[in-house]
Amino acid sequence: MFNYTCLNPIAGVGLDLLSDEYNKVDDIKDAQAVLVRSAAMHDMELPKTLEVVARAGAGVNNIPLDKCAEAGIVVFNTPGANANGVKELVFAGMLLAARDVVGGIEWVKGEEGNADVAKLAEKQKKNFAGSEIAGKKLGVIGLGAIGVKVANAATHLGMEVYGYDPYISVNAAWSLSRNVNHVNAVEEIYKNCDYITIHVPLLDSTKKMINAEAIAMMKPTTVVLNFARDLLVDEEAMVAALEEGKIAKYVSDFPNPTTVGKKGCIVTPHIGASTEESEDNCAVMAVKEIRDFLEN
Ligand code: NAD
Repeated sequence: MFNYTCLNPIAGVGLDLLSDEYNKVDDIKDAQAVLVRSAAMHDMELPKTLEVVARAGAGVNNIPLDKCAEAGIVVFNTPGANANGVKELVFAGMLLAARDVVGGIEWVKGEEGNADVAKLAEKQKKNFAGSEIAGKKLGVIGLGAIGVKVANAATHLGMEVYGYDPYISVNAAWSLSRNVNHVNAVEEIYKNCDYITIHVPLLDSTKKMINAEAIAMMKPTTVVLNFARDLLVDEEAMVAALEEGKIAKYVSDFPNPTTVGKKGCIVTPHIGASTEESEDNCAVMAVKEIRDFLEN
């Protein structure tokens, strides 16, 4: 009989794939396997029984990888399983930056009960005018599971797409549309693109890769989108640049005191992968990984 536990699990989705041979335990104490979503495991004592951790998601920065490696605990993530959910929110972010959808909705809400709202809207709508993303240059930094999907979809929306990834995998290269221009220097993206979206893992080498120097190369009309991890961006430098009008907007999926409520910041509550489909895909893949590992 194998013991497993789930830390903030995904509503149990996929767990029915575990056979009767598996026994859910209430804490991590006797677990052989842990299925974890976003809970941070850094301060947890890892039991001697633990053999495998499956992270239902892409980023593994909530897992103490060094401690696991030392203890011989195998760590899996679920590559690509939530990529479509994140891709779709990136486009929502781009459109929220291009069009004042939120401002318009808030204005309409404020007119509740006003019988003349339609007439008034005709006068007000100029205040919510925006621009189109078709024809704009999009820079995609990191062409992995999510970056490739964003890049390919953007070509269908009529964007001129530039991609940068010095370590692109063969699979990703194969699935990349011919219409995506691969650049060898990330500075080309900083200098030329209207929208810049970042899809790299958080590593020592990528921490604050969008820093003051990178931001200084961008145009005052540039919109930066961060649906990867907040620490990839020097957000203090970003907020300062937005304040000074050196860049137009910062769209982030990671709320924190540096960005929330600040000029030019559009922040969502880490919901990139929060779709029924992505959560199902991640849960099912994580359970399969645990089962295959323990049974083989
Ligand atoms: P992935 O591993 O499939 O792709 C990452 C890509 O980044 C790889 O192709 C790699 O070669 C490339 N890369 C690494 N260092 C680079 C560098 N210095 N410059 C350019 N490219 C570099 O990962 P993914 O599944 O596409 O996830 C991408 C990011 O999105 C991760 O940070 C992940 O944590 C985050 N994410 C966020 C959410 C959310 O809810 N907002 C959900 C899923 C993933």
